Amino acid sequence: MSKCAIIGGGPAGLNAALYLKRAGLDVVIIEKDVPGGEMFKTDKIENYLGFENISGGDLAYNMAKQVKDLGAWIIKDKVIRVFKEDNKDGKFILEMVNDRLEFDYVVVATGREPRKLGVRGSDNLIGRGLSYCAVCDGYFYKGLEVAVIGGGDAALTEALYLSDLCSKVYVLVRKDMRASEILKKRVGSKDNIVILKNTEVRSFDYDDELKGVTLSNGEFLAISGIFVAIGGAPSLDFLSDMDVNLKDGYIVTDERMRTNIPGLYAVGDVRYKDFYQIITAASDGAIAALSIKEDVR
Ligand code: NDP
Repeated sequence: MSKCAIIGGGPAGLNAALYLKRAGLDVVIIEKDVPGGEMFKTDKIENYLGFENISGGDLAYNMAKQVKDLGAWIIKDKVIRVFKEDNKDGKFILEMVNDRLEFDYVVVATGREPRKLGVRGSDNLIGRGLSYCAVCDGYFYKGLEVAVIGGGDAALTEALYLSDLCSKVYVLVRKDMRASEILKKRVGSKDNIVILKNTEVRSFDYDDELKGVTLSNGEFLAISGIFVAIGGAPSLDFLSDMDVNLKDGYIVTDERMRTNIPGLYAVGDVRYKDFYQIITAASDGAIAALSIKEDVR
């Protein structure tokens, strides 16, 4: 039986596993963290068809359970290198931190890593006032004033979550917002969310903990916590031996999720495409699995 590896257990990888398993293929999902990917860190999901309102953690749990119940195997490990050797009959070799396995097909579903802020001092402040995840760390700032950096859907989703916990939430948008209308409207109806456009953080003021930030207009904003939600980018060092076609750091595929390397597919946020949503990631996974079913040697 053809063996398929799925690298990454977010919605794209899990849906690929569901379809592959139902097609009778042998499937292993390799996930370095918990199943669900970025979705796991999301407070409320209201745009995944079939669920009016579900937490990212619950949706991740449901998806992983459905796939495991079908018999897919989820390994907790990190893939550090994908390559081929001449004497291996075209198989992909996956080198992981704890193992080394061979597969006929590989689906890359590793998503994106959050973009780091890059302002001096920001790395030192992680865990002492600066966070990349409101659902994970928001509770530490209950009743306090905080800020979110970013103007996309993720930043406004973080701000809405924090507005139920914190006394005031500033959203620092470096130019204009690019978030969806529904989120902008919801943020507009919250009395304790303040949007500051054309605003960047120039520097941080902290000793043991964050005291505030100096903004690009020179003003000082006294806050106890700052949440960074400025998008992300794929992290693809593990594919450096494979000569995969990339565009702007994302993997290029055809409509069937095939990359330029036969047997290698890419799905979800790691793929170069127009729309990055949970439902489009899941759709990519289904398409890749159906393509593999047709491509099986
Ligand atoms: P986006 O790329 O959409 O937005 C990134 C934001 O961060 C922009 O406002 C950008 O500003 C800003 N930014 C980037 N770098 C910096 C920096 N160094 N300093 C300050 N600001 C910076 O990313 P998101 O993570 O918000 O969303 C990614 C995708 O996921 C989108 O397709 C989005 O629709 C989707 N998503 C959907 C959700 C939903 O449907 N509920 C929830 C979360 C994400 P600028 O515009 O100036 O570049």
